[in-house]
Amino acid sequence: MKPVSVEQQLMLINGEWRASVSSEFFPIESPAERGSVIAEVPRSSAEDVDFAVKAAHTAFASWREVPAKERGRLLWKIADAVEEQAEDIARTIATETGNAIRTQARGEVKSVVEIFRYFAGVVSEIRGSTCPVDNNLMAYTQREPYGVVGAIVPWNAPVQLSSLKIAPAVAAGNTIVLKTAEDAPLGVLKLARICAQYLPAGVVNVITGYGQECGEALTSHPLVNKLTFTGSTAVGKTIMRKAAERIVPVSLELGGKSPQIVFPDANNDKVVEGIISAMRFARQGQSCSAGTRLFLHESIFHSFVEKLVNRLAELKVGHPLAEESDMGSLINKKQFDKVTRFIEEGMNDENLELLIGGLPPEEGPLAEGYYHQPTLFACKNDNTRLAKEEIFGPVLLIMSWSDEEEVIKAANDSSYGLAAFVWTNDTKKALRTAGKIESGWIQVNRGGAQMPGLSYGGYKQSGIGREFSLEGMLDSYTQVKSIMIDFND
Ligand code: NAD
Repeated sequence: MKPVSVEQQLMLINGEWRASVSSEFFPIESPAERGSVIAEVPRSSAEDVDFAVKAAHTAFASWREVPAKERGRLLWKIADAVEEQAEDIARTIATETGNAIRTQARGEVKSVVEIFRYFAGVVSEIRGSTCPVDNNLMAYTQREPYGVVGAIVPWNAPVQLSSLKIAPAVAAGNTIVLKTAEDAPLGVLKLARICAQYLPAGVVNVITGYGQECGEALTSHPLVNKLTFTGSTAVGKTIMRKAAERIVPVSLELGGKSPQIVFPDANNDKVVEGIISAMRFARQGQSCSAGTRLFLHESIFHSFVEKLVNRLAELKVGHPLAEESDMGSLINKKQFDKVTRFIEEGMNDENLELLIGGLPPEEGPLAEGYYHQPTLFACKNDNTRLAKEEIFGPVLLIMSWSDEEEVIKAANDSSYGLAAFVWTNDTKKALRTAGKIESGWIQVNRGGAQMPGLSYGGYKQSGIGREFSLEGMLDSYTQVKSIMIDFND
């Protein structure tokens, strides 16, 4: 099973497909087969960013005048075209990210279609309000786009996360320059090709390059009026500092270390499946919203762990393009080594007991890529680095609890606050717990993904701003102008 053939791909600036000014390219490696290069993409610098931002700035003048309904119509066409090319895009995502095609990559493309259709549908809701004063004074507000949006995305769900920037920004009348992640630009370039087919030149520009070389240039470009970033909390802080220098509004979707709380009545196979889904094992745990801290009630601890271990042992780790794979490979060597170090540390920590998984295979087909097995540690206490820091790998920490107040306190004892999962059929307990957890997104008896229409975003160091919803689009991609008219003589 060979990945797509090696080719030099170009990036989209002002409706044209271009190399970088320097003509330099950098390789994209297949994470499933160490060292195999699947494509090369342009290595952009500040000069390329400048071209792209100026193109977006010029395009904004006419794009903002396009009626909202027409913008929505074009977004709908993009959704249809993505749907038609879904399998091709999914295979590209699986090849470049290592995410398994059946359990993850196809679902990602489906979500892209839904996101474009959702924002196409709500575009007419970009409206203002009137303020009652008196018969001689009228006051009202209107929402206007910012202008050029500078967007930066990570590699873990690259096309979905790019759609969450492009669709709402463009629907609201902005133009955009999006920097892809260095490890996974190919699926996004396919989406860019579709956008370029339906949108005027310069409305969507997609550039490729490294964070410090072209990402930083984008964050500090004087014609960028709004920044939106999805990635690590560490880089998010850098972006926020850059935004502060020019007082540019910024949205941040950052990391997480999300808790899952299981009550005694939830000791069954359905909850086991839900927890595996919430932990995002099908994405090798490489998800910001992964429920990586599992709090099991002490009365069910052993029997639940047994069911979980048995089920995880059945998961098939394998090539991302193989239909039978439940899990694929991690994204790159850096991430693979980081996860390996965490596991080694866990195995040497007397507070932790390894229940399944552990160090990655050193021989056989899985040693050819950056594969890790699902790994569980039982924690005597959660005062360990593994239970505090975002590992971004298939490593789940399990703690036992007995007191409801105490477990909520432990769940909230994190600098992050992105997601949380509560498992019980006792509605009173579920709602009481959901109300007290400090996270932006809480699911009860559900471990699935976000859905368009419901705001999504972090508390604490997990971010600022919301995505996925009409409110998110209005807050992130429009600014409010108040207008007063005095009719007095
Ligand atoms: P990262 O922060 O290292 O990189 C993200 C993007 O930022 C990449 O495109 C990178 O090139 C760019 N970048 C790096 N340094 C930069 C700089 N100085 N200036 C401008 N851009 C720069 O993150 P990653 O490793 O690609 O992704 C994993 C992280 O993303 C995890 O922490 C994860 O939790 C987070 N994430 C959050 C969400 C969410 O919705 N909250 C979704 C997905 C991923």
